[in-house]
Amino acid sequence: MSEHNAGLSQELLEIRDLTRKFMSKEVLPAEEKAPFDAFELPDDVLLALQKKAKSIGLWSVRAPQEYGGGGLSLLASTVIAEETAKCKMGAYVPACGATGSNPPAPILLGTKEQISRFAIPAIQDGKKAFVAISEASGGSDPARSIRTRAVLKGDRYILNGSKMWITGAEKANWGLLFARTGDQGQRGGITCFIIDGKPKGMTIKEMNVIRSYSPYEIFLENVEVPVEHRLGEEGQGFALCEKWLVEGRVPYSAGTIGIAQAALDIAVQWAKDREVFKSKLADKQAIQWMIADSDMEIRAARLLIYEAAKRCDEGLSFKTEASIAKVVSTETAGRVVDRCIQIMGGMGLSKELPLERWYRELRIKRIGEGPSEVHRMVLSRELLN
Ligand SMILES: Cc1cc2nc3c(=O)[nH]c(=O)nc-3n(C[C@H](O)[C@H](O)[C@H](O)COP(=O)(O)OP(=O)(O)OC[C@H]3O[C@@H](n4cnc5c(N)ncnc54)[C@H](O)[C@@H]3O)c2cc1C
Repeated sequence: MSEHNAGLSQELLEIRDLTRKFMSKEVLPAEEKAPFDAFELPDDVLLALQKKAKSIGLWSVRAPQEYGGGGLSLLASTVIAEETAKCKMGAYVPACGATGSNPPAPILLGTKEQISRFAIPAIQDGKKAFVAISEASGGSDPARSIRTRAVLKGDRYILNGSKMWITGAEKANWGLLFARTGDQGQRGGITCFIIDGKPKGMTIKEMNVIRSYSPYEIFLENVEVPVEHRLGEEGQGFALCEKWLVEGRVPYSAGTIGIAQAALDIAVQWAKDREVFKSKLADKQAIQWMIADSDMEIRAARLLIYEAAKRCDEGLSFKTEASIAKVVSTETAGRVVDRCIQIMGGMGLSKELPLERWYRELRIKRIGEGPSEVHRMVLSRELLN
């Protein structure tokens, strides 16, 4: 299949090739030995991969260089995100965790102490963090639905309430948790707190979802958070995280397209090899059209993702573009993997190949990071106002 370079510079094509090589030579062979539904590699295997990733500049690529990250542009990190998604675990753990994680960026707006205690270990040593916004009362409109309350008493806040669907809460070393310090319904009434480890009064419960890697409920009963672990000022919670939330949608979208591309590559090879009714599947027009439609849709989504990333890198507003990229890529990826399963028949549904796993996991992508309807609302508001 012709390679879709989408106008990337030579430098970005080299970053893409380097990532591809790292994935095929290092990550995929290591992942092959893990169980089908695994979401982590054994510690020693992961550490060896991480060492390698660091040595070739594929570590915490978006985090600032001054703190030990790669300092790459959003476009470059988006190109990398597409490639690192091309593995069984890729829908949630890019490169099986080999390339580190960029900590939630609002922490970089914190005090010197907060940065050195929380951000730097996350960037340099891969310490993990959760972000807890959603609650049982609703995730699409958190400004109105957050009920978890923080009340200042002396030099600490007392937190009561609960969070729902929180990814990685169990193994996180710290987290950002958004609670109400102002009036119900006020966007400006939300404050962000750093939760250090598992403080007294905080309990966590696993929630089963469509994939094997579960998010968690967090319950807070009189949890004490010192004032110095408040991020920014009272009421600044959403202002601190807005740009980061928008930016996050761009590599998130690229990951879904990476999976769609990987599925299509498998299905194309299958169609070329498989013979039915005296000719190859690749000779049947119904199959050809499924392949052609999938390729066209992936290319279109990729261009929209790059547009959003470029606008961010150029300092332009990119909220609408990120929403468009998120909806188009997540919906495209779901359709493409569905078609690829159809092309492959029973083998598409078997656990010999990652397609059925990707099919399930991609379904989450149309709800996480803002559901499709909310992003459509962002776009239509702009068009109609
Ligand atoms: C696996 C998984 C991991 C997650 N990880 C995290 C995490 O780490 N941290 C975190 O804070 N949250 C996390 N979430 C929560 C996620 O962000 C929310 O599920 C999402 O924001 C939707 O919120 P909700 O589920 O409460 O749905 P609701 O807000 O109740 O919405 C229900 C449905 O109504 C639709 N809807 C909403 N508003 C409108 C509208 N105006 N017009 C038309 N339709 C509308 C939505 O699109 C959705 O389809 C995770 C969710 C899942 C499933």
